[in-house]
Amino acid sequence: MPGANNKTRVLVVEDEKDISGLIKHTLERSGDTIVDIAASGDQALKLASEQQVDLIILDLNLPVLGGLEVCRLLRTRPATAKTPIIMLTARSSESDRVVGLDAGADDYVTKPFSPRELSARVRAVLRRGRPDDVGPPPIYRGEHLVADFDVVSIAVDGVSVRLTRREFELLRHLVENRNRVLSRDRLLERVWGYDRMVETRSVDVHVGRLRGKLGAAGKQIETVVGLGYRFIEAEK
Ligand code: CA
Repeated sequence: MPGANNKTRVLVVEDEKDISGLIKHTLERSGDTIVDIAASGDQALKLASEQQVDLIILDLNLPVLGGLEVCRLLRTRPATAKTPIIMLTARSSESDRVVGLDAGADDYVTKPFSPRELSARVRAVLRRGRPDDVGPPPIYRGEHLVADFDVVSIAVDGVSVRLTRREFELLRHLVENRNRVLSRDRLLERVWGYDRMVETRSVDVHVGRLRGKLGAAGKQIETVVGLGYRFIEAEK
């Protein structure tokens, strides 16, 4: 989805001028891309609300408002909820990458990166669009449960159910991966994200509460002894 004049519009959020300049130079060289630079998270949020952006390259290490926070804020705003985001990280540890992807980034590039590598990632991310677009539809309709994850509406046998944010995310993750076993660790990582102080037992507590609230549909969340949980697709 190219922006104005059929050119791809990329927003680079990076406080280090050398790096943002290099990215701008690299991406604009193709002739079909316009790069805007924001030196802070605040500026990025402002620019992204003012004009259509096709892709955001977001540095993890930003002063004041950090990259993760910016990423989460971008995801909560309708204009940028589905805009592809590539996170730049100076660290290559797996936890940083997981944290970035959990905050809503589509991909990450580790610094130092070569201009060629970055260009290739940008092209790949633009080509595939948001993973949501190829995933299961946001509305799940089962025998008892109807869950519209886009508008946060959950109903069992026509009666609306109120879930906490955590229960909602837990249900969404289970439904999106239905008929697959998800370990407690994976659920912790995906649903709780960076809150690493949480014990795996919390998953059991939340699943128990979620099952209770879902009534007849609660049976669809199956405990797989020794492994984790699985959301079973009900027979129609
Ligand atoms: Ca930086």
